[in-house]
Amino acid sequence: MGKTYIIGFPRIGEKRELKFALEDFWSGKISFDEFDMVAKKLKQKHWNYQKNANIEHISSNDFSFYDNMLDTTFMLGAIPDRFKHLNSKEQYFSMARGDKDSPAMEMTKWFNTNYHYIVPELSENIEFKLDATKIINEYNEAKEIGVKTKVNIIGLLTYLGLSKCDNSNYYDLVDKLLPIYEELLKLLSKLDDDIIVQFDEPILVCGANDILLANLKKVYDRLGMVSPKVKIAVVTYFEHINDSITTLCDTPIWAIGLDFVHGKDNLQALDIIEKSGKYLIAGVVNGRNIWKNNIDDSLELLGIIGKTIKKDKILVSTSCSLLHSPYTTANEIKMDTEIKNWLSFAIEKLDEVALIAKIFFDGFDSLNYDGLKYYNKTKDILIKKSASSLLNDIYIKNRIASLDKFQRDGKYEDRIILQRKALKYDNLATTTIGSFPQTPELRAKRLQFKKGEISKSVYEDYIKSYIDECIKIQEDIGLDVLVHGEPERNDMVEFFAERLDGYGFSSNGWVQSYGSRCVKPPFIYGDVSRKDTLGYEWIVYAQSKTKKLVKGMLSGPVTMINWSFVREDVSKSQIATQIALALSDEVDDLQKHGIKIIQVDEAAFKEGYPLRFEKRAGYEKWAVDSFKLSVSSSLKETQIHTHMCYSEFNDIIKTIEAMDADVISIETARSGNRLLKVFKEVGYKQEVGPGIYDIHSPRVPSVEEMKNQIIALLEVLPRKQLWINPDCGLKTRKYDEVIPSLKNMVQAVKEIRGH
Ligand code: GLN
Ligand code: ZN
Repeated sequence: MGKTYIIGFPRIGEKRELKFALEDFWSGKISFDEFDMVAKKLKQKHWNYQKNANIEHISSNDFSFYDNMLDTTFMLGAIPDRFKHLNSKEQYFSMARGDKDSPAMEMTKWFNTNYHYIVPELSENIEFKLDATKIINEYNEAKEIGVKTKVNIIGLLTYLGLSKCDNSNYYDLVDKLLPIYEELLKLLSKLDDDIIVQFDEPILVCGANDILLANLKKVYDRLGMVSPKVKIAVVTYFEHINDSITTLCDTPIWAIGLDFVHGKDNLQALDIIEKSGKYLIAGVVNGRNIWKNNIDDSLELLGIIGKTIKKDKILVSTSCSLLHSPYTTANEIKMDTEIKNWLSFAIEKLDEVALIAKIFFDGFDSLNYDGLKYYNKTKDILIKKSASSLLNDIYIKNRIASLDKFQRDGKYEDRIILQRKALKYDNLATTTIGSFPQTPELRAKRLQFKKGEISKSVYEDYIKSYIDECIKIQEDIGLDVLVHGEPERNDMVEFFAERLDGYGFSSNGWVQSYGSRCVKPPFIYGDVSRKDTLGYEWIVYAQSKTKKLVKGMLSGPVTMINWSFVREDVSKSQIATQIALALSDEVDDLQKHGIKIIQVDEAAFKEGYPLRFEKRAGYEKWAVDSFKLSVSSSLKETQIHTHMCYSEFNDIIKTIEAMDADVISIETARSGNRLLKVFKEVGYKQEVGPGIYDIHSPRVPSVEEMKNQIIALLEVLPRKQLWINPDCGLKTRKYDEVIPSLKNMVQAVKEIRGH
């Protein structure tokens, strides 16, 4: 029995080969068969990487053309009616991306990661039907090159738990899906003398109730009995599963996968696992961060586990699928070598798992020359790292230690009077969320600048001309509060990260976000401070071009942290404090240069919530405190806005209120004012800008439609509390959609105001 286990491997390719092949296929540049050939080669390459790294438990079916949840939907035959008329290849990509006749299926984030899955649409009426073609083919493809894989499948409870269902109790669907899963296992049992099937059940980390536990027992009792040739591993990750471990151990499965990196409390479950005699897949190498593993720490952790669980029942693993990790540090030729030495991406993590397992099971003496060299080198790097001057900024540390102002002055009730007097905006003031379209020309200019093809001054002149135009457009439309349009930024994090000390960047650290889309998050390795301005000059420039108010834009600490890889040697709360201080200096600069409205976006505030309920309060404390610290330098007269890209505030409304922003803009366009009622119910005092049209669609909403939307809003909140804006930034839209939409929005407000 092998001792090394990888939950799953990334599939987009070291050079994003899958992305480019997908896009070529979609645009008709290559045929499906050509595309499939690229996919096949990638799979082989990934199996070989793992095999050569001495990984014994390698997955098949962790590959996907688009998304594994979508693959599961296919496997179950849960095709929504609107795609039924298409053939299966067309169906697959239309379900993911939509087509001219049907909107795509919804997409949302996979637990607390930045990977998005396609949300299944289920109903009582679906006739589920097994299609195991992909799974079987992939198993055989690996076998052909001499790799006997375990088969990864999304567990039934996780699949259901993440689905949208028109039936109120989706657990009723367990009885419908279970026979399909059983049939699948029967088929898989015929593929080989024995076979391991990994069911991913991360839903268990969100906490269990009686219904979930009853279903957990039922599902794995039945699946465990399908065939003696099938061994079932139920793997979980991102948190602990203490409340479901007893039930899981009481089913005839072979192994349980636990994350000991993000779910240290899993250590409390070891006794139960030991008694059940099950194998333990021990996730000790972090699968979703980029830092070199501290081998001694992992060995110590395994030592603790080994005190309860017999060594021959332990498999050494990554904490979760390496899907969330970039490929390899080998291609980071431009990176500072000291920092590069601290990193470990997916391919390097394979070696870590193998080395840790070797030492744990066979002792240091068993290491060959290379193994020992690797161990010693890693140890040396980490010792040097802990003493590195790059991690510490004494100035920032002292500044934080002597902080005496943690929030701005004045109560909201008093501030808003001063602000309305100074800013003189009308009720139902119109504005936008910040960005204007990132045109192909703008993107091309940025690329040219990054490559050194145009000079800084040529680039900056171009940005200025964009801002000039953007201001003029907004004045012509007649918006009340203008923005500079964010042309200098490619996204909400990188632009700021580049201007902060303590942040690092990779050239190839791509991670799949959804389908062919990848992100390359920056990483925080050291104390963060503002080395340069955060770009307030652009906003001040925009203000110089108009008599109207220009709102300045910044990204908040939670968003900066959530969309970056973060260091693990200090708490997130400390990192957030450092970012907040940098932001508060920028707020101060904006204000000194005449900017009177400043928006600090916290797009990631809600997704930053911990998966386990008991950890929420701790998160809320630092998330709110760091927001307040970011704007602590603002004068009472300066109006602070924030923006959040969602609308489900029911359970967090008091926390949102505690952030103490004067105005919050949110996304309600797609959910109507049903979700807004909570603001009224709790007596929310601050001003609110509920997005009145959906920017995610190219459609131009009519004046009438937006008037109706505003009338509906007025039933919930009084006129003096309302702002009118789209529901998110406009950067992904085209000007010829944005201009008419905003004109209609302003016209709708005019008609409602009656002037
Ligand atoms: N100010 C940002 C923009 O308009 C906000 C983006 C976001 O909320 N995701 O693009
Ligand atoms: Zn948004």
